[in-house]
Amino acid sequence: MRLLLFDIDGTLIRSVGVGKAAMVYAMEQVFGTAGPVDSYDMAGKTDPLIITDLMTAAGLALADIETGLPAVYELMAEKGRVLFTSDGIAPCTGVPELLAALAGHEDVLLGLLTGNINTTAPLKLAAAGIDPTLFRIGAYGSDAGDRNLLPALALERACQLTGHSFNGQNTVVIGDTPADIACARASGATAVAVATGRYSAGTLADYQPDYLLENLADTLAVLDILLGRAEA
Ligand SMILES: [Mg+2]
Repeated sequence: MRLLLFDIDGTLIRSVGVGKAAMVYAMEQVFGTAGPVDSYDMAGKTDPLIITDLMTAAGLALADIETGLPAVYELMAEKGRVLFTSDGIAPCTGVPELLAALAGHEDVLLGLLTGNINTTAPLKLAAAGIDPTLFRIGAYGSDAGDRNLLPALALERACQLTGHSFNGQNTVVIGDTPADIACARASGATAVAVATGRYSAGTLADYQPDYLLENLADTLAVLDILLGRAEA
C-alpha cells in the first residue's frame, strides 16, 4: 500500500489571498494586530509558525502568543466558512482529474500534510470543489509548528487507520515549496515538487526533489510517479 501526502496551498488549490485574510482577521481580533503581514512570506510555513513569527515581530511575548492561538484558530475557521468560496479558491491544474484517477486505486491511501490547521483545511478543499473526505488521514499545522514533525504523525495515523505499516519507502510527499521537499526528506519519503505555487521549477530544482513537475496536468505521467512506476 502507498501513502500519498498532499500539501494544500499551491499544490491542490490556489487562492486569491482569502486564507491570509481569514488569518489577519483572527490575529487582529485576538492580538489587536496582524504584525508585518504584508512583507511576510507564508509559503510552505505552518499556520502556528506564521502567527508566531508575525506576533513576535509585533512585540508580543511567546507565552502570550501561545495562549492566544486556540482563539485565533477558532476565528480563522469562523471567517473561513464565509470567505472560502469558489470565487476565491480553485483547484490547481490537473488536480480534479488526478484525484479521480487515484480514487480507483485501492492500494493507495490519500492524506494531507499541510501547514493549515485541521479546521480550515477541509473548508479550503471544499471551496475548490475537492471532496475533503478523499483524504482519509492528515497531519496539520495545528498538530505542530515545525513542518518536519508532520510526516511522522501522518505515518502513525495512516498505520492506525489501516493497520498497514508505513515508512518512507512507501510514502510520497507532494508539495510546492522547498519546505515540502525538506519535510519529505525528514521522513525518508519520496519528494515530488510541483511548480504551481510561489516557487518556479528552476528554484525548486535547487532543492533536489526526487521528481519535479511544472503542474499535475499529465494524469498518466503523474500516476506513474506517485505509484512508484516511474524512474527517478
Ligand atoms: Mg503549499
